[in-house]
Amino acid sequence: MQYMSTRDVNAWPVSASCAIRRGIAVDGGLYVPQDFPAYLPKSWSDLDYQTMARGIFALYLTDFTDAEISSCVEGAYGSNFPPLVAPCVTVGGVEVLELFHGPTAAFKDIALQALPRFLTHALAHEGAGAEAVILAATSGDTGKAALEGFKDVPGTRIIVFYPEDGVSTAQKLQMITTTGSNVSVVSVAGNFDDCQAGVKALFGDDALRERMSAAGFEFSSANSINFGRLLPQIVYYYYGYAQMVGRGRIKPGLEIQIAVPSGNFGNLLAAYYAKRMGLPVSRLVCASNINDVLTEAITAGSYNRLRDFYKTTSPSMDILVSSNFERFLFEMYERDALRCATDFGALSRSGGFTVPTGARQAWSGFLTAGSASEDEVRDTIGRIFERYGYLLDPHTAVGWKVLEGVGGGEPFLLAATASPYKFTEAALTALGRDVDGMTESGRQELLSRMSGVPIPAALAGIEELPKRHDMHTSIDGMRAAVEGILSI
Ligand SMILES: *Cc1c(COP(=O)(O)O)cnc(C)c1O
Repeated sequence: MQYMSTRDVNAWPVSASCAIRRGIAVDGGLYVPQDFPAYLPKSWSDLDYQTMARGIFALYLTDFTDAEISSCVEGAYGSNFPPLVAPCVTVGGVEVLELFHGPTAAFKDIALQALPRFLTHALAHEGAGAEAVILAATSGDTGKAALEGFKDVPGTRIIVFYPEDGVSTAQKLQMITTTGSNVSVVSVAGNFDDCQAGVKALFGDDALRERMSAAGFEFSSANSINFGRLLPQIVYYYYGYAQMVGRGRIKPGLEIQIAVPSGNFGNLLAAYYAKRMGLPVSRLVCASNINDVLTEAITAGSYNRLRDFYKTTSPSMDILVSSNFERFLFEMYERDALRCATDFGALSRSGGFTVPTGARQAWSGFLTAGSASEDEVRDTIGRIFERYGYLLDPHTAVGWKVLEGVGGGEPFLLAATASPYKFTEAALTALGRDVDGMTESGRQELLSRMSGVPIPAALAGIEELPKRHDMHTSIDGMRAAVEGILSI
C-alpha cells in the first residue's frame, strides 16, 4: 500500500513508513491510502482484538514484516488494556463501545499506544538515524495519551502544547505529572486552535527544519493528522461489530449505525474507512458540542472557522478547525487534490469555503450530523444515569444526545470516548452535586460512591503525584520553546 497527499496526487506516492514518519505531507496535505483494502473476517465470533488488529494493520503497513506488526500489536494491546481492549455495553438499546480503558482513560490511548511502535519501525526502515521529535497540540486527551505512548521510547522526544485554560483539572494534572526523560509539557496562552496552528507552523518552518536536521532531529506528529493514528482506530469499529454479532444483537452482514462525538474528525473518519473496507454500516452520525463547525459543514455545506470559540464541558471537542475533515472531503471530491488544495488554502487564508453540491450529495445517504448544547449534555448525563445507572462522560453524552435526535432503523454503536472520571466536575454537576471547593480526589470518591464505577487506575491519586512540568509560553513563543527544549 502506498500513500498520497490530499493536496497533490501527482507527487510520488510514499510507503507507510514514510507517511508515518513525516506525519504531514510536504505540500501541507494529509497522507491517505491509495485505496481501501477489503476486510471481512470469515467468522465474527471467535476473533480477539489482537488478531483483528494484526489483520487490519497488515493490509496498510505493507512495508512492515509480520513480526514487526505482531510486536506493535502485542506491545500496544497487551498489559496496558483489559483483555477485551474495547468492550461493548448495552445501555437502553444502544451499544456503547467503551474506548477508554487504556493507560490515560481516553480513547486516544488505543491509537497512541500503537503509533510510537509504528514510528520506531518506520524510522528503522527509512534508515533515518535522526531522533524523532514529536510535536503535539492537545485539547486535553491527546497530550497525556501521547506522553504515555512516547515516554522513554528510544530515538524519540515529545513536546506537548496545551491551552492553559482549555483543559479539565484531571487532564492538566495528568499531563504535568508525566514521568519520562524525553518528555516536555508546555502550556500556551491561547486556545486549542492556537496550539494546533502553532504546531502546524513549526512543521512548515523550513529554516527551523534545517537547523533541527543539522542537530540530528526531525519532526513528526502524534496528532490525528498522522495516518498512524487513524489506522488503529479502524480496528475497534470492526471489533464493536463483532461483539454485537457475538451477543446476538445483529446477524452477520446486517448494517449498523455508528455515532461518534467528534472534534478533529479522526475517530469518525476511521469509522468511514471501516465502512469503505466493507464493514456493514448504513449511517455515520457526527456529533458536535456547541463548537459546531462540523455540523454546519455536513448539514449546510459551509465550512467556516471564523466563529466564536466556546469553552465547554467536553473540551476535547472544543475546536474550530477539524483537520481530518480534509481526508473525508478528498474522498467526497472523488480524490480531486486540486480542489482540496484550493478549498483548504481558502480555509487558512480567508476563513472558510463552501462545499459544492455534488460532494454534499455524495455523503447525504450515509452521513448526518447534529450538535448538543451544554444544557442538553448535562441533562443527558443525569437522565441516562437515572434511567439506566450508566454514567456518560460529557463527550459521550454529546454523542448520545445527537443519536437520540436522528433515530433510524438499524442498531446504534456509540463511541464512548472518555471515562467520566476525566471530567468529574461536569459529571457531578450533571448529577446535581455542588463540587465547589472539593479536591479532585474528593470528587473522584464522591463519583465512585454515587455511580458504583471504580476510579480508573490511571486517575487515582493523581493529585498527590509530583508536578514535573511548569513551562509556559505565549502563542508567538512556541518556536522559541522548542528551540530551548532541544538546545538548538
Ligand atoms: C479527541 C476526543 C474526541 C474527538 O475525537 P476526534 O477524533 O478529534 O474527532 C472526542 N472525545 C474525547 C474524549 C476525545 O479525547
